[in-house]
Amino acid sequence: MSDATGDPQRPLVSVRDLKVQFAVAGGRQVVRAVDGVSFDIHRGETLSLVGESGSGKTTVGQALLGVVPIAEGEMRIGDVSLPARTAADRRRLRRSAQMIFQDPYSSLNPRMRVGDIIAEPLRANGIGATRGERQKRVAELLGLVGLPADAADLLPHEFSGGQRQRIGIARAIATEPDFIICDEPVSALDVSIQAQIVNLLGGLQKRLHLTYLFIAHDLAVVRYVSSRIAVMYLGKIVEIGTRDEVIRNPSHPYTQALLAAVPGIDPAREATRQGVMLGGEIPSPINPPSGCAFHPRCPLAEARCSREVPRPHRLSATHQAACHLLADASEPSKG
Ligand code: SF4
Repeated sequence: MSDATGDPQRPLVSVRDLKVQFAVAGGRQVVRAVDGVSFDIHRGETLSLVGESGSGKTTVGQALLGVVPIAEGEMRIGDVSLPARTAADRRRLRRSAQMIFQDPYSSLNPRMRVGDIIAEPLRANGIGATRGERQKRVAELLGLVGLPADAADLLPHEFSGGQRQRIGIARAIATEPDFIICDEPVSALDVSIQAQIVNLLGGLQKRLHLTYLFIAHDLAVVRYVSSRIAVMYLGKIVEIGTRDEVIRNPSHPYTQALLAAVPGIDPAREATRQGVMLGGEIPSPINPPSGCAFHPRCPLAEARCSREVPRPHRLSATHQAACHLLADASEPSKG
């Protein structure tokens, strides 16, 4: 999508203080699914949003695509501010921003032939004047995702899970988007297939100059695909940094616990991780814990952690984390 400012440094995607809330229990209670999230994504990079189920990461992606209403905040994709207000802006977004879904079994209409599934966004966006032109484009797209052209004549159930995800990816890139939200794109697949899909996404990113928001529940997959990583807990980003900063120098106890669950990610750090194994379930966002929302599960929690909300602490120009202990560590020593 073009950027009216012409500034090459301007992020393609910008999110500021995003809040998404849902009323539950007949409107008597509010779920703060996303509670003040901010990030940028530059052209050609992959920002991974990582957190357990219930962290709000998928809701962030849904807010960007206008699937859920936002309570507060500002969002922009290209030069379109969200939610898009004009029909022209909505059309541009439909073409330039796409989503790859978690479940390749339920995200494809079982009664439609694969060629029609992939041609659907072409038709909807007026790409390809004739059926023949669209068929040619479908064959190209199937080739880009590593499927034969005759796959267009088959139904989704005739493919494996990995092949179905390839079909979903072909549909997502059909309109030549700039930005794709990948919502847990490999978590429903066998481990042996996951690497193939991750490699395919990486290859398409380089070839088609794509920008990704990659949503995942663990750090095992995102370490391969990310330029930067943001870790979410109960609706907030608790740590954000470059891939190496977050993987090699995890600074929030929650990030350390997520990394501890990834075997062999860095054996040299194994001994230091023993104290940050993650126990218990993520609390309900209807009634989140006071202070630092991670305190009931944090092995390093202190008395103030249940009273005071930690502010983001800057660890480098690109790395920050919200934990009281980090603020203490950086205070100049007295005497
Ligand atoms: Fe743990 Fe306290 Fe840091 Fe929260 S602020 S992560 S409870 S030490």
